[in-house]
Amino acid sequence: MPEKIFVKSDDEVSTFLDSSIKTALFNRNSVVFGEVFNANNMTECNRRILYRTFGVKADNPISNEFIWREEIIKQKWINLISSIPHVRFLEKNRVVSDASFYVTGIIDGIFKIGNKVVIVDISSINHKEFEKINSNGPIRKNIVKIMLKMWMSEIKHSILIHEHNDNGKFKIFHVTPFKPIIDSVCNKCAKNIQYKLHGKLPDREYLSNDCAECNVCEFNLTCWKG
Ligand code: SF4
Repeated sequence: MPEKIFVKSDDEVSTFLDSSIKTALFNRNSVVFGEVFNANNMTECNRRILYRTFGVKADNPISNEFIWREEIIKQKWINLISSIPHVRFLEKNRVVSDASFYVTGIIDGIFKIGNKVVIVDISSINHKEFEKINSNGPIRKNIVKIMLKMWMSEIKHSILIHEHNDNGKFKIFHVTPFKPIIDSVCNKCAKNIQYKLHGKLPDREYLSNDCAECNVCEFNLTCWKG
């Protein structure tokens, strides 16, 4: 019997799913984060943050492959933690936000560990970053994002998991709230809200485009042209 009788890639169901998934992939970041400040990026250059909220097209957008790989890693950790005795999985991918400062974020996982409710945030990192956190503790960007997610969810405990993206080694840190960090992000957001309301971009924070952040910034070409 010819396979095409029972295997189809051009019928109503498969074409509907194919086009819907492509649209979802295209929109996946902008749907949640289009107009507001993403808790994951609050240590970045203000101009870069504003480019995102203005919906400027990135010169080098994050690839879907990268996003999928991160999601697979997050799911692996959620499954692992859920299987630990006396740990109860409560929720994953909870969207949290703060209306006063236009901040939003997604919590990877929420668990009950003993008598504590705990946020879990999972990131994969490269070898250089892994060596750095071995000596100096978690990356500042990750501390700030987990602080914001604790603040927005009113959950007082969090776990940062950093996984080495080559060999699967990992480091785990327990983080608790620290108000000065939240205050400093709120101040940063308050200034950025003014730029947003007036439709203006802040000045560049660097003198040339070869600094560490500009080198990895997805708006590098747009920012420095002209
Ligand atoms: S290229 Fe540099 S200065 Fe421009 S938005 Fe990006 S990080 Fe900021």
